[in-house]
Amino acid sequence: MIIIANWKAKVQSITDAKRLLTSAKTLAEKGIHQIILAPSAPYLGLLSLSNTSKKLRFAAQDITLTPGGAQTGEVTGKMLASVKATHVIIGHSERRALGESDADILTKTKHALSSGLIPIVCIGEKKRDEDAEYLSHLRAQIDAVYGGLNAKEQAAIVLAYEPVWAIGKSASDGITPDDLIEMIRYIRKVLATYMPAKKAEQVAILYGGAVEPSNAKALAYNTGIDGLLVGHASTDAKSFTALVKDLP
Ligand code: PEP
Repeated sequence: MIIIANWKAKVQSITDAKRLLTSAKTLAEKGIHQIILAPSAPYLGLLSLSNTSKKLRFAAQDITLTPGGAQTGEVTGKMLASVKATHVIIGHSERRALGESDADILTKTKHALSSGLIPIVCIGEKKRDEDAEYLSHLRAQIDAVYGGLNAKEQAAIVLAYEPVWAIGKSASDGITPDDLIEMIRYIRKVLATYMPAKKAEQVAILYGGAVEPSNAKALAYNTGIDGLLVGHASTDAKSFTALVKDLP
C-alpha cells in the first residue's frame, strides 16, 4: 500500500522532524509498503537530501499556482522536484477552507505534472446528508480535475478520498469500512466516465481521515483502496509505526 504521512504544521522543530524521519526510514526499508513523508516546506529539502533510504519518498504539502518569478513566498514544482520531492498533495480540505477553488486545484495539478511530480489530489464531502447530495459534491470535485486533463494526465494522478467530517477526529468518529467500500465504488464509477472501466479500477485511490492504529487495518482490508493518507497519527513515531505494521 501507499502510506502518506501528512505532517501538516504539527511538527514544530527540525529535531522532531529528524526523529520521525528515522522511524519512517525503518518502515520504508522493510519494503512492504511505500512510505511517503509530507513534511512542512522548511524541512522537506533538508530531510529528502540527507535521506539515505532509496525506498522512502517525499511529498510537498502544496504547490504554487504559477511556475515562478516575482512571487514572494511561493514554492514551485521545479523547486520541489529539485530537492527530490516526488509527490505533492493538492486540494487538501484545509487549503480549500482557505479559499482554494476547484479551478486552482486543476491549475496546481497541471503545474505538478509539468514539473514531473505526482499529484495527490484530495476530494471529500464536508458532511453527509440523507438525500446523498454529498455524492454530487464529490462528483463535482472529480469532474473539476479530470474534465480539464488529457488521458495521459488523468492516468498520472493519485486520488485521496478524505471526507472533511472525519479529518482530525479519532478513529471512533471516522468512516466505517462498509461506507468506505461504497464511496470507493462510487469514485471508480465516476472515473469510468473518463476512462475505460478497467483503467478506472487501476487508479490509485487513498483514504484519509481519522486513520489511527486502531482502525487502519479494517479500513485498508478489502475496501478497494490502494493506501492511506495519515494526518495526526503520522506525527507520533510510535503511532505511525504501529499503524503501518498492522496493515495487510
Ligand atoms: C489529513 O488531514 O489529511 C488527515 C488525514 O488528517 P487526520 O489523519 O488527522 O484525520
